[in-house]
Amino acid sequence: MDNSRPELLSLLPDELVSLMASLGEPGYRARQLFEGLHRGLSPDEITNIGNATKAKLRAAASYHLPEVRRKLVSKLDGTIKYLFGLADGNCIESVLMIYRHGNSICVSTQVGCRMGCAFCASTIGGMVRNLTPGEILGQVIAARLDSGERISNIVLMGIGEPLDNYDNVIKFLHLVNHEYGLNIGYRHISLSTCGLVDKIRRLRGEGLPITLSVSLHAADDKQRSRIMPVNRRWSIAELLDACREYYRSGPGRRISFEYVLIPGLNDSPADANRLADLLNSHLRADGPMPIHVNLIPQNRVNGRELASPDARAADPRAFAAVLDRRGIRATLRRRLGADINASCGQLRRESAE
Ligand code: SAH
Repeated sequence: MDNSRPELLSLLPDELVSLMASLGEPGYRARQLFEGLHRGLSPDEITNIGNATKAKLRAAASYHLPEVRRKLVSKLDGTIKYLFGLADGNCIESVLMIYRHGNSICVSTQVGCRMGCAFCASTIGGMVRNLTPGEILGQVIAARLDSGERISNIVLMGIGEPLDNYDNVIKFLHLVNHEYGLNIGYRHISLSTCGLVDKIRRLRGEGLPITLSVSLHAADDKQRSRIMPVNRRWSIAELLDACREYYRSGPGRRISFEYVLIPGLNDSPADANRLADLLNSHLRADGPMPIHVNLIPQNRVNGRELASPDARAADPRAFAAVLDRRGIRATLRRRLGADINASCGQLRRESAE
């Protein structure tokens, strides 16, 4: 990638104004440029910008939209999985989920991941690099262009740990929310994290009413540390304290928890009861708080076996019923795109093999 020239898709309108000013162009051109870029046009395709300006832009800035390398469409539910190529040849994945109440896109935030979770395909080759704000945004723009679908919700739940790429992710949020661009409301955005407590605290200070989705996956520190190395740095208690503070920091700061059901490891009714004890005691100590747990069936990833291969999965409905009885809303995640390997990192691994 050319680091010497700014990437047009990573710039906020104010920054485009400065760039255009440095090229001797008036400020209103910056808004036209921002609007065109975010609709999916390349600078050369934007008709209300003259050729002389386009030539100056080519010299002063870079532009690249992720390219569709592979596209898988689920016959079961219409879910579309994209393998995108970046300017430097690296690949990332995005998943577009088609729902009656509005389509949702799951975007990647890093090439690879360094969190090391034992069940996850994205972390197998380690972390290659952070995505730029424009590369995160580019996934939304490119998926919208390619599919022709409207996108109303975003989840930062693809490859990578969003809070490990903090500044670029925050800038992406400002870009995608901007009224001149895609204008997607913060309440329609969820950020999923394995639990970087220092960054959750920092996020609280940003004042953005996005939903924080926390990958918990275990009800005690011993078990969580075994499958998620991040837990050796911050205990579950510290993580849940940070979650409670996030929730209390302002309207719209919702929290949900992800819990992957790993057969024979964390999926028994006894595990559900321990999870309910944990959440209720830490989150509701100083007042009521809605708690929502998404129960996710584990997608088996080659080379990432945790329990013995013949461990029988317990009934997830029994797990959910225990949580419900304890005042915790539990939903069983539907397996969207089950026929296209739609969960994180699997397509990129396949392409690397
Ligand atoms: N790093 C962030 C976001 C990426 S992972 C995080 O940890 O939340 C997105 C979600 O997919 C997480 O809840 C993660 O735990 C889950 N996940 C990863 N591997 C999985 C697998 N093999 N089966 C089911 N869910 C998985």
